[in-house]
Amino acid sequence: MQGQMQDRPLLISSLIDFAERFHGDGEIVSRRVEGDIHRYTYADAAVRARQVANALDRLDLAAGSRVGTLAWNGYRHFELYYGVSGSGRILHTINPRLHPEQVAWIINHAEDEALCFDLTFLPIIKAIHAACRRVRQWVILCDRDAVPADTGIPGLLSYEDWIAGEATSYDWPDLDEDSAACLCYTSGTTGNPKGVLYSHRSSVLHAYAAAMPDVMCLSARDSVLPVVPMFHVNAWGIPYTAAATGCKLVFPGPALDGKSVYELMEAEKVTFAAGVPTVWQMLLGHMQQHGLRFSTLNRTVIGGSACPPAMISAFKDTYGVTVLHAWGMTEMSPLGTLCTLKNKHLALPPEEQLKILCTQGRPVFGVDMKIVDDAGHALPHDGVAQGELLVRGPWIVREYFKGEGGDPLIDGWFPTGDVATIDADGYLHITDRSKDVIKSGGEWISSIDVENIAMAHPAVAMAACLGMRHPKWDERPVIVVVKKPDAELTREQLLAFFLGKLSKWQIPDDVIFVDAIPLGATGKMQKIKLREQLAGYTLP
Ligand code: ADP
Repeated sequence: MQGQMQDRPLLISSLIDFAERFHGDGEIVSRRVEGDIHRYTYADAAVRARQVANALDRLDLAAGSRVGTLAWNGYRHFELYYGVSGSGRILHTINPRLHPEQVAWIINHAEDEALCFDLTFLPIIKAIHAACRRVRQWVILCDRDAVPADTGIPGLLSYEDWIAGEATSYDWPDLDEDSAACLCYTSGTTGNPKGVLYSHRSSVLHAYAAAMPDVMCLSARDSVLPVVPMFHVNAWGIPYTAAATGCKLVFPGPALDGKSVYELMEAEKVTFAAGVPTVWQMLLGHMQQHGLRFSTLNRTVIGGSACPPAMISAFKDTYGVTVLHAWGMTEMSPLGTLCTLKNKHLALPPEEQLKILCTQGRPVFGVDMKIVDDAGHALPHDGVAQGELLVRGPWIVREYFKGEGGDPLIDGWFPTGDVATIDADGYLHITDRSKDVIKSGGEWISSIDVENIAMAHPAVAMAACLGMRHPKWDERPVIVVVKKPDAELTREQLLAFFLGKLSKWQIPDDVIFVDAIPLGATGKMQKIKLREQLAGYTLP
């Protein structure tokens, strides 16, 4: 017997319709590339999203065509999120921090037919536009007056010109909820990036899940600052969850330095923010230096790479802000787990609670996970056994765009490439990415554990642990360290700092001081590059 409920598809257009109708005066504040602050409402955004849809119709872009964006977090990008997907095209968000050649490669691979970019990225577009043959319309996200003369880009339009004459009404098509809505490429740390094609259904389900209390707990009373870029897994879905909840949205534009982010948070009474650890490092550094405090921020999601426990404590103890440590991937839209305590943990002493809060947290309803050994056998969820982590769920990839790389699933499960433990309460602890685990004398050393300890040293700004070839032990760990400005730290002092915190054989053999550790396009440490930079290095 079939259920007897209405069969309404889950569509991205319904999110912006909802926000317009029930949170029409909800604010959206953006720091623009031009440097000023722009303010308007969900109702204004909805009108302009419909104008985008009409502009795309005028271009005669078929359903399913890809529209690329190369843009910061801002209101125009937000309008594109809805105008493009809502009208049945596919929003393809591109990471502008990639090498221009890689940007061109991705645009061509996705077969983008229109491309909208911020003024900041004009030099990239100038360099690559001739190589992007499928793009029929280039749109620069600024006012007409701000478009520089003689860009050499044929037919270039300012965004405001592009949508200005369009009707403000549009009937969103009644799409199949499984039709494609957005395309995100993995960062391609190994080989070419692969596209992950989200559907309307997966995006809307993910938006519901993200709002739940033990996930981001977003509400109409929040003021939300996604520092995580809208080109990095769609800012972790916040633009959708925001519309579903009616929270105030605050977009930081290109100004991601500690001072700018702090000032925006204070000015817009931000209660909730989201970003990768390296961004928060800059924010905390700025606040420490100037003795600043938050007046409204009460929680922040940190993920994308392991959040050092020292950062979780600093937010809590010094600033009274709860860190929600999150784990996910592009292939997972991206939310997989998020860390909050359970009722039974509330009576635990703070150090015990901190131990739990430093894990990557529990699965969000909708995400199923398991760990397996090398033979693929499921391992117990006892917090001890570690194995490769596999996941499945309605917002997890089934296959990559254009079938690249063949069938990625194993019996319906997606292998994440992460090594982890899961405890009886479902808390996930990521030991490492499988390619970063250090294998020493048949035992595994978690590079993340070593880095977390180094990061707790007051003189350390950033730390990366690498396994170096060793004739007897296969690999031995070394710790590569960037010192804080003006801080004093010797090799011996740092090695002594590990004593008692790790078993003797897990302690690095050496400390290498460097001026900087290379960061990838999403702010993660690039260990492959770092290794290349240390090519001549030999263990002591
Ligand atoms: P890519 O896989 O292309 O580098 P993603 O942003 O999808 O880009 O990265 C996903 C990976 O990032 C995960 O598989 C995991 O290794 C790492 N990661 C994400 N969040 C965390 C976290 N909280 N702790 C440890 N690793 C994390």
